[in-house]
Amino acid sequence: MNHIITLFIQLATRLEAASKSSHERDELIKSWEDDTFAGFSSSSKCRKKINKVAPERKYSNRSNGTVNGSLDYGEYASDREIRRRLSRLNKKSMDSESETSDDMDKSSEYSKSNTDSTSSDTESDTELKSQSQTGQSRADGSFTPDEGFDSMTDDREWGARMTKSSLVPPVTRKYEVIEEYVIVSNEEDVKRKMQVSLPDDYVEKLNSQKSGTEESDMELPEVKDYKPRKMLGEEVLEQEVYGIDPYSHNLLLDSMPEELDWDLAEKHMFVEDVLLRTLNKQVRRYTGSGNTPMIYPLHPVVEEILKGAEEDGDVRTVRMCQGILKAIESRRDDKYVAYRKGLGVVCNKEEGFGEEDFVVEFLGEVYPVWKWFEKQDGIRSLQKNNKDPAPEFYNIYLERPKGDADGYDLVVVDAMHKANYASRICHSCRPNCEAKVTAVDGRYQIGIYAVRKIQYGEEVTFDYNSVTESKEEYEASVCLCGSQVCRGSYLNLTGEGAFQKVLKEWHGTLDRHQLMLEACELNSVSEEDYLELGRAGLGSCLLGGLPDWVIAYSARLVRFINFERTKLPEEILKHNLEEKRKYFSDICLEVEKSDAEVQAEGVYNQRLQNLAVTLDKVRYVMRCAFGNPKDAPPPLERLSPLEAVSFLWKGEGSLVQELLQSMAPHVEEHLLNDLRTKILARDPSGSDDIWKELKRSLLWLRDEVRNLPCTYKSRNDAAADLIHIYAYTRCFVRIREYKTVTSPPVYISPLDLGPKYTEKLGSGFQEYCKTYGENYCLGQLIFWYNQTSAEPDCSLARASRGCLSLPNFSSFYAKVQKPSLQRVYGPRTVKFMLARMEKQPQRPWPKDRIWSFDNSPKVIGSPMLDAAVHKSHLDREMVHWLKHRPAIFQAMWDR
Ligand SMILES: [Zn+2]
Repeated sequence: MNHIITLFIQLATRLEAASKSSHERDELIKSWEDDTFAGFSSSSKCRKKINKVAPERKYSNRSNGTVNGSLDYGEYASDREIRRRLSRLNKKSMDSESETSDDMDKSSEYSKSNTDSTSSDTESDTELKSQSQTGQSRADGSFTPDEGFDSMTDDREWGARMTKSSLVPPVTRKYEVIEEYVIVSNEEDVKRKMQVSLPDDYVEKLNSQKSGTEESDMELPEVKDYKPRKMLGEEVLEQEVYGIDPYSHNLLLDSMPEELDWDLAEKHMFVEDVLLRTLNKQVRRYTGSGNTPMIYPLHPVVEEILKGAEEDGDVRTVRMCQGILKAIESRRDDKYVAYRKGLGVVCNKEEGFGEEDFVVEFLGEVYPVWKWFEKQDGIRSLQKNNKDPAPEFYNIYLERPKGDADGYDLVVVDAMHKANYASRICHSCRPNCEAKVTAVDGRYQIGIYAVRKIQYGEEVTFDYNSVTESKEEYEASVCLCGSQVCRGSYLNLTGEGAFQKVLKEWHGTLDRHQLMLEACELNSVSEEDYLELGRAGLGSCLLGGLPDWVIAYSARLVRFINFERTKLPEEILKHNLEEKRKYFSDICLEVEKSDAEVQAEGVYNQRLQNLAVTLDKVRYVMRCAFGNPKDAPPPLERLSPLEAVSFLWKGEGSLVQELLQSMAPHVEEHLLNDLRTKILARDPSGSDDIWKELKRSLLWLRDEVRNLPCTYKSRNDAAADLIHIYAYTRCFVRIREYKTVTSPPVYISPLDLGPKYTEKLGSGFQEYCKTYGENYCLGQLIFWYNQTSAEPDCSLARASRGCLSLPNFSSFYAKVQKPSLQRVYGPRTVKFMLARMEKQPQRPWPKDRIWSFDNSPKVIGSPMLDAAVHKSHLDREMVHWLKHRPAIFQAMWDR
């Protein structure tokens, strides 16, 4: 351990030495602070645009193991290892190293939350995942983009992290070149979704939006004339490209001679414009050579710039280059290098491209959303138990603008196997192009358009605007764009922390069931519903063919999404301020406010996108199960009083029957028969007020069961408590199952899984057929905001435990002889249960206690659901009795 500390101190000293004077360093850091803010807000602004294109597009580095040959790389890896190991050291022992101790805290948080996220990855239900963290502070591993950003700022100043990260060779993937979109399945459907439908008053709307007279967030379709794409090999080149990370950018700034009268902006531009262009000119020769180095020295690049400047008589640049070359000579410990990015696209037109020039369509295979997610499920199932990060992703969402006459919808464009050179364009945090959805010749497409002038030799880039929820993936995606506003990673972290706050607090499992139950019982769409949906941009394209109860439920979800939109900015602001105050002393409240609003807007768009994905999935399953999706019946149905009697008291498989069966091995036969007779006599179904009589009978039964003798194997006292809870439940809901549906196969290439699978599985395609369970549609609709679970019906069953579906009576009657420590039903268990019911009614009850639950309950109902349905408090009388009834039995381990 001491050895590690020594190594670390050496590393820290080296980094310290890298900055020449502390004054200069402070200034630079300050400039970085400013820049990072700029970068941050620009990143969040981009998130607003996510909606237009690209939220799913992820390029992730394949990790460790693929390469380690080069010495440099080995060194980086060990630096990383030092950090990781140090993070496990006791914080106190490091406190004397005051310079580094903050850092330590941070990395220990990293590693902790890393493990958290890995372990919880197996739990596909994100709600359960996030709920398991409730009540803990931020150290619990919740992580938002800003946190990532702050810490990155910290590291970036002079930190080792960005350069030392796992830089691995990008794969030069071959793809089949296509000239237009290739639709993978459901051609009619996909074509309809790509078809432009301009609103009647399009021109009017466009004008009023242009003149700013009407503030509307309804994105109108952007109509463009057809333009031919830039010709590959002539106007653009596909070639090996290299880039630099933020650390190297800073190192170069730091190496520039002080006495020159260059302002900071000029210095930045020297690096990201002149240097990068010359760099990519030099490395072009490696393209297709099969012998491309991972690292390329900057020395010859600066020399070439120097030569050119001498020829042009550009004295300023000559001095600049001489200064940098001198620094490179004298600072042997610093690495003046660029890193390989893989294939990229470079402007090869001598006069360059103009602003707003059309570059190329982003082509690929087009999937209906449901099919795309089937494929993702298939990939996950084939990767089973694999901890490797996912392979590269080349997919982009093509989203219809909300202002289209038929409204919003989406399809997925995947450029993995069939594509054009657009899929080669690299990410930049300060891009010269943007990817946007445009309407050309009556069809939507994703086009890459220049956002400023692009010079001859300049690399063509756009901002991927990609988000990830995995911190590991985020940290591994080192950005090499080299721009002054580089965010350090080409992914944005999202999805946790503040963003989920409103959802968790106001839209829990019970709330969503209440909305669903309401929609199912009405099974009709009101005018107000249609207006609400229309205002959110959801129209016939997305909602066509769905049954009324689904549309009514969607309208209710849109109401929640709107509510969240108003609530979330303050939550995010509060969270961001708390975080930022840890790192920065002066914070501009106005900037923070507008940032929080932009972020909340991003969440808003993401929610609508998730709703659309969910509706596409369930429509497909309903079509398979019923022919016409409109025929799919509402999945929730409230029990009538007589049905409730049958469910609880006397029907085949009723709860009372289950109770008697569970008791049978433990209770003397004559006692049991006696009880049976009495139960028959107390059948409430003939009564005038069945509910009242049912409650009375259940309370009677509770006391009867409480009077039976208890042993540790036969906890009649616990069963009595459960009967009591049932007695106070009014709303029982039957879940109507659909038939299971198995899809035709999707074909998965080993390339979809990652490079090492090619060896394992050969080059052939794998078939995957997805089976949708009986409750898939209900599950997906309840978990509408989450697409990561392949089996939302199973998530639903897990989320229902306790809060919606009370435990089984058999929980309290042991089948095995050996007592187990889990079979505790003492005051603490009861207290825990009451706390759940009162304070966290929407959370499932844990499975590792005495309770066992149905894996797919056919009927749900609980006093907590009652409270949610009636928007009232939990029944006080029910709680009071549970709190104050005397304990009648204590097993040895009940404490
Ligand atoms: Zn960048």
